[in-house]
Amino acid sequence: MKTIKILHMYADMLDLYGDSGNMEIMKYRCTMRGIGCEIDKYSVDSPMPDFSAYDLIYIGGGADLEQQHISADLLKCREGIVNAYKNGTFLFLICGGYQLMGKYYRDADGNDIKGLGLFDYFTVAPNSRRKRCIGNIVVQTEITGKPVKVLGFENHGGQTQNVKTPFGKVLYGNGNCSKSECEGYFEKNVIATYLHGPMLSKNPEISDYMIEYCINRSADAPEKLVPLDDKLEKECRKVMLDRLLKG
Ligand code: GLN
Repeated sequence: MKTIKILHMYADMLDLYGDSGNMEIMKYRCTMRGIGCEIDKYSVDSPMPDFSAYDLIYIGGGADLEQQHISADLLKCREGIVNAYKNGTFLFLICGGYQLMGKYYRDADGNDIKGLGLFDYFTVAPNSRRKRCIGNIVVQTEITGKPVKVLGFENHGGQTQNVKTPFGKVLYGNGNCSKSECEGYFEKNVIATYLHGPMLSKNPEISDYMIEYCINRSADAPEKLVPLDDKLEKECRKVMLDRLLKG
């Protein structure tokens, strides 16, 4: 049986709006296809893992305080994460996790939380804590080769700037900055986004994009995934998309 290996980092601290549910969706969609899905956890002061042994590294979102708490530990993991990313490990990053892979996150008090600097973007929160990007969001992405509307919920003060390759175009909501055109950051093996939800429960195609990447990354002959019966997911998506885009 093919098995994909996932490292879920800081699940005990970075888990806003059900972000850990993304891992349940990955596991479910693998299991339904007879693909194994092993999920290990890593948190502050765990033994240093071999990051390159994983097909996917996942980090969820959190409040400024949690980001401060994990920041020194994350910096200790820098070399391992950079090597894994260069070896093709997929990075799936939500909100606070997204911000901390950039140069820095400057919070509302002007304190900088150093990021890993893996990517060139940086994030600055406005001085007023009331100015936040909160609400439902729809982003159109083309990462699967055809347009996909990605649904989620955003709640961030941080305004992420200098993103050269966004995840998608904002159709409803805010995105990287207040009322911005673009959302998230994307590379072949990186999805970094502000979308909570949990995001994958609302967007099975994005989950499948990552599963397909993981099972094929060292395969000689790439395989397509068997489609699953997503009738319920499609019906739920239609209700939300109609409400937000046609309302
Ligand atoms: N604390 C960060 C911000 O407010 C990230 C929030 C989040 O992960 N939802 O921008």
